[in-house]
Amino acid sequence: MELKEKIKKLKDEMNAIILAHNYQRKDVQEIADFKGDSLELARKAKNVDADYIVFAGVDFMAETAAIINPDKTVLIPSKAATCEMAKFLTGERVREYKKRYPEAAVVLYVNSTAEAKAEADITCTSANAVKVVESLPNEVILFGPDANLASHVQEHTDKKIIPLPPEGHCYVHTSFDVDSIPRDGKILVHPECPPEIRKIGDAVASTGGMVKYVKNSNEKRFVIVTERDMVSRLQLDFPDKEFVPAWENAICLGMKHVTLENIYRSLKEKKYVVKVDPDIAERAKRAIERMLEVS
Ligand code: SF4
Repeated sequence: MELKEKIKKLKDEMNAIILAHNYQRKDVQEIADFKGDSLELARKAKNVDADYIVFAGVDFMAETAAIINPDKTVLIPSKAATCEMAKFLTGERVREYKKRYPEAAVVLYVNSTAEAKAEADITCTSANAVKVVESLPNEVILFGPDANLASHVQEHTDKKIIPLPPEGHCYVHTSFDVDSIPRDGKILVHPECPPEIRKIGDAVASTGGMVKYVKNSNEKRFVIVTERDMVSRLQLDFPDKEFVPAWENAICLGMKHVTLENIYRSLKEKKYVVKVDPDIAERAKRAIERMLEVS
């Protein structure tokens, strides 16, 4: 039996669901029950009716699903599927900054560890970051771990945004060369890119925002300035339109550790179960659920 069919059969027998991030390989996106950006997947994970959630994404996404679904088993197919950006921020660093800026609220991008989230007032994604910041009474916001997303938020609010830490970034979104990006189509840029790249975009949007932009546009050709497999997601949804990756080598290695082979193994052997320390999970859950209420 073909691997895709074997996965489907096993998934049905186990009452499992596969959630895949937009940066997953094309064949993984093809077998997913639901594809989306971090916010869409967090919402889906909360409302899903399944005994097992297989998370085709990176560690912080699977942790988020486990935190908001304590009664379901969340599986991640590869332990190597990690996010380099999340590693910029420890819980201890957040506590240090909180002491230095006691008047500030802490807003953490979901691309952070559960330990860091436990120290946050609220989480956000690239889709709702400005809305989350505007929902808070505080005028000073500690925002991390992505300094580029922090600068994007700063461009859209009068509040004072302090990046936490100032060096936090995503190596994929900072790998573009502004002069090499093709200009022959509508340019859609992810807000994790640095300001000089965002400036050339016809739109700056999360991956979910890019899907909506394309859906509502009459344009036929788009240049996609984010992880390369976002083009796979858009091609699956809009086969009549043309999508060009801004750079072929903009690849998130953590995301590519998930394959059809290890998804099958994950279902068959029920591994790797995502576990979060209960105290950390409880505190992180408050910050995540507060975000889901706002957005
Ligand atoms: S693309 Fe960047 S921020 Fe997104 S998961 Fe990969 S390393 Fe993390």
